[in-house]
Amino acid sequence: MISVRDLHKSFGDNEVLKGIDLEVSAQEVVCVIGPSGSGKSTLLRCLNLLEEVTSGDVFIEGKNLTDPKVDINEVRSRVGMVFQHFNLFPHMTVLENITLGPKKIKGVKKAQAEKEAEPLLAKVGLSDKANVYPDSLSGGQKQRVAIARSLAMNPKIMLFDEPTSALDPELVGDVLAVMKDLAKEGMTMVVVTHEMGFAREVGDRVIFMDEGIIMEENVPAKIFGEPDNPRTREFLSKVL
Ligand code: ADP
Ligand code: MG
Repeated sequence: MISVRDLHKSFGDNEVLKGIDLEVSAQEVVCVIGPSGSGKSTLLRCLNLLEEVTSGDVFIEGKNLTDPKVDINEVRSRVGMVFQHFNLFPHMTVLENITLGPKKIKGVKKAQAEKEAEPLLAKVGLSDKANVYPDSLSGGQKQRVAIARSLAMNPKIMLFDEPTSALDPELVGDVLAVMKDLAKEGMTMVVVTHEMGFAREVGDRVIFMDEGIIMEENVPAKIFGEPDNPRTREFLSKVL
């Protein structure tokens, strides 16, 4: 589903990604952990063209995103992304937020888009909130709307960038539960997270990034149980 080869990304003189190689198979859940500033967000953003790649290749379902002819909207509808800050439109209801993408980008008719939003709202546990404005929701509910909004585009891959980091601790569980359900349904996911419990339980593979490099990757039991790299060990000793 995703194939990244020798990906480099610089901002000016600052080389943030220093040669990333990564393969993600269909239905796989890959969790990315690592210290702040290590390039985790930049890596995710390169996977759906929110950042232009400096060099290297990023293939999504075999299509090279670095091809100048690539259709950005088409890529973004196949690769959904959920951010730490939910970026919902405050002047739109929950339903309007969710149906906007399908209507504007895919040309789906309003009635059809609203019909398709129903099961998504149910999936994130917010069927009763269709007609409220984001302001009246908790952070966890907003994040679940943001997930439903991404899913409305029918993505093949979902990228999550610290989706629970901005939430009060008691609201984290509901968001993680939605993500866990998605994983169970077979969604291909790349999840940047500080939730080591989630990475251990739901991740098929965990990637430890530091200073723009994948320092170590393995199954969660190995990464959390007996990491090979001293940097991984040091990081985990601080966060666990
Ligand atoms: P992480 O998500 O692991 O905390 P980031 O990918 O956000 O790391 O950032 C890695 C580095 O790239 C940081 O040094 C950050 O300042 C820099 N960076 C990220 N985005 C930009 C940008 N748009 N312009 C300039 N520098 C950036
Ligand atoms: Mg980040």
